[in-house]
Amino acid sequence: MSEHRINIFLRLRPTKGQLCKYEALDENTKIVVEVPRENLAQEVINNQKEKHEFSFNHVFDRDTRQEDIFNKVAGPVMNAALDGFNGTVFAYGQTGSGKTFTLTGGPEKYEDRGIMPRALSMLYSQFKKRTDYTYQVHVSYLEIYNDTGYDLLDPALETQAKSLEDLPKVSLMEDEDGNIHLRNLSAHPASTEEDALNLLFLGETNRATSETPMNLASSRSHCIFTIFITATQVGSDVTRKSKVHLVDLAGSERVYKTRAQGDLLNESKYINLSLHFLEMCIVALQERKGNKKAFVPYRNSMMTSVLRDSLGGNCKTSMIATINPNKDHTDESLSTCRFAQRVACISNAVKVNEEVDPQRVIKRLKKEVADLREELALLRGGDEEETELSEETLKHLRAKVDEFMVDPSPESELSIGPHMGKLRYCIGYLKTIARSGGGGGKG
Ligand code: ADP
Ligand code: MG
Repeated sequence: MSEHRINIFLRLRPTKGQLCKYEALDENTKIVVEVPRENLAQEVINNQKEKHEFSFNHVFDRDTRQEDIFNKVAGPVMNAALDGFNGTVFAYGQTGSGKTFTLTGGPEKYEDRGIMPRALSMLYSQFKKRTDYTYQVHVSYLEIYNDTGYDLLDPALETQAKSLEDLPKVSLMEDEDGNIHLRNLSAHPASTEEDALNLLFLGETNRATSETPMNLASSRSHCIFTIFITATQVGSDVTRKSKVHLVDLAGSERVYKTRAQGDLLNESKYINLSLHFLEMCIVALQERKGNKKAFVPYRNSMMTSVLRDSLGGNCKTSMIATINPNKDHTDESLSTCRFAQRVACISNAVKVNEEVDPQRVIKRLKKEVADLREELALLRGGDEEETELSEETLKHLRAKVDEFMVDPSPESELSIGPHMGKLRYCIGYLKTIARSGGGGGKG
């Protein structure tokens, strides 16, 4: 087990209109946002400014390319997954701030493809390089809307089911070890990069067609694309199993209620209830510090149950907070940054998920037994049994020994082949010769 702090990144999306005043400092590990007072409280308008400072592993400014995002945010998580560590990358931010752009990508240009397709491409190109292991991949794609799970890769979507609503709902099950399993969520094998990308695109299509402008599903739902990797070392019984969740969370926007005049505090509430529960988990994790048994309310929502390992468990996790730096969104941007600061306090305990595969052990032992049988048969001299040495053979052996005894050459050899029965017989015969004090005789 080793400690892993959750890495937090900030991405500013390009925007038209007036920017809020911000400055990235210390080689883009810090951002200072300047808020005019009138933004904070509506009653007094003055020129006082308030500065808010936030630290991140990296702050990506508006012009950052998708490739750089992938390399810094997701690349290390994917590399760790190849070595057997679980991983999670989740995007958090208000609707329109670029979560889906960051994870899935833009529809127009190839270079705009996001973390999900890039993660798959990276995996398969690494498989080709890492020839000491063989790899198997499965993927699943879950959408959670209103605390109900839908399988975006359910085969029925292509045949009978018309919409996600017609599908059996995905539900949570907990086994006796406390591990969470998802019923009715399909996992599809993907032996090539093309298979995996096709599954991803199929899920994206089902996600897009299932949403109507009325229910605003994309901003209210969470989407979790999961890649399961099984790696087996060539010539070993040990397999490593890891899973990577790539998570596009629901929009984090809140409803703001300004209190009575003179009160500077804005009371705010998440529109999405499960994000509220996510924040509760984060706060509990932040407070538990060292006390690993402290209660964390994961079970309050399906999303937090599914992401339990990603937060405070056995997982290398990175969060990408997305903000729209437009002046009109400063409140939301600040709350996104504050949320990220809390997440950064969480440390996970990570380990490689290695296990001995019993099927492989059985296969190997069977092969070993077969090899040993073969060797033994060879030592016995073909398929003759020790007890079955015929009188003819014995006579032949005695003649060989006699010949050997009378041969004066020091280089002479008694050659009878790799057969235990024959060897034993010859040694016994030599002993009788030695006792009788002679060389050869019976014939
Ligand atoms: P969210 O998923 O957070 O609601 P989207 O990813 O859908 O937001 O982004 C909203 C719009 O802004 C989309 O049209 C998207 O293509 C665009 N967009 C977001 N981030 C970027 C970016 N970094 N570069 C270019 N376009 C972006
Ligand atoms: Mg989105």
